[in-house]
Amino acid sequence: MRIGLDIGGTKIDAVAVDDALASRAPVHRVRLASGYGADEVVGNAVEAVRHLAALTGVPPQALDSIGVGVPGVVDPATGRVAHAVNLGLVDVPLGDELARRVGAPVRVENDVNAAALGAWHALGLQGSAAYLNLGTGLAAGLVLDGRLRRGAHGAAGEIGHVPVDPAGAWCACGQRGCLETVASGSAAARLWPTTALHPARALLDAAATGDHAALRARAVLVDGVAQAVRLLALTVDVQTVVVGGGLSALGDDLMGPVRDALADQGAASSFIASLELASRLVLLPAGLPAAAMGAALAGTPADPVPVAAAG
Ligand SMILES: [Zn+2]
Repeated sequence: MRIGLDIGGTKIDAVAVDDALASRAPVHRVRLASGYGADEVVGNAVEAVRHLAALTGVPPQALDSIGVGVPGVVDPATGRVAHAVNLGLVDVPLGDELARRVGAPVRVENDVNAAALGAWHALGLQGSAAYLNLGTGLAAGLVLDGRLRRGAHGAAGEIGHVPVDPAGAWCACGQRGCLETVASGSAAARLWPTTALHPARALLDAAATGDHAALRARAVLVDGVAQAVRLLALTVDVQTVVVGGGLSALGDDLMGPVRDALADQGAASSFIASLELASRLVLLPAGLPAAAMGAALAGTPADPVPVAAAG
C-alpha cells in the first residue's frame, strides 16, 4: 500500500493506492485543509497520512511508500521545497520533516510532475505523454517512454514561461509575453475582467452569445493553449497530451475551440497537419486525483528515476 498527498493552495488531496496503481483508482481518499506556513502544512500532511493509514489498517512505518506533490521549486533528491508562495513555504525540508513525524521515508515531487506520473498510470497510457496543467499558471509534466523527465534543473516542461509575444503582458517570472500570460486561469482573468468567481467560465459564456470582445479574448486564450500543445508535440513528440487543472473543468467548451485552433494551424502547414495534434488531446477525467496518485508512485519502481538527481 502506498500513500500520496497532493498539497494544493487550499486543500490536501490524499489517497491510498495499491502497488503500482494496479487498480488505476485510489483505494481510499481523504481531503483536508492545507493550512499556511511550514508548521500548519506539515501538521496537516501528518494528519492526512495517519488518517489514511488508519483506513487501510497499515501503520505508516509499514507502508511501501509515502509521496508528496507540492507546488514550488522541489528538489526530489532532498525533499526540500522552496518558493511555494501560496502555502507560505519559503525553504522547507518538507520530506525530512514529514518523514520524522510519521516514521517512514517520504518522497517529494513537484505537483505537476506528480500529476503527469499519476495520469500516465491511471489512464493506462503507453509510451510518452505530457500532462498540461491549465491552472492559475501553465506548466507541463513529461513522462517520456514511461519515465518522468525532470530535466537537469527540474525545469523540464515549464513551457508556461516560453515568451510568445514580445509586446505581451509582463509575467511574474520577469519576462514579457510568456505563454502563461495568454493561456491560463490568470490569463483568462486578465483577458476578461469580471467579478465572476470563474472568469474563464464567464468569458466562454459571453463568447457563446456572440459578444465580439469575448470572442477576441477567447481566441487569445484558445490559441495560447493550442500553442502549448504544438510546442509539446514539436519538442518531445508525445503521443498524448492530457489536459488538467482548473480550466479543464470547462470541458468541451474549451477543448472544442482548441481543437479548431489546432486544425487552423494545420490548414496553413501540411507539416503541422501531418502531426494530427487534435487527436492527441485527452481531458483528465473530472475528479481523478492524478497528482496525489502520482505522488504515491514517486521514487517507486513505477518511477525508476535515480534519487541523486541534484548536485
Ligand atoms: Zn513567465
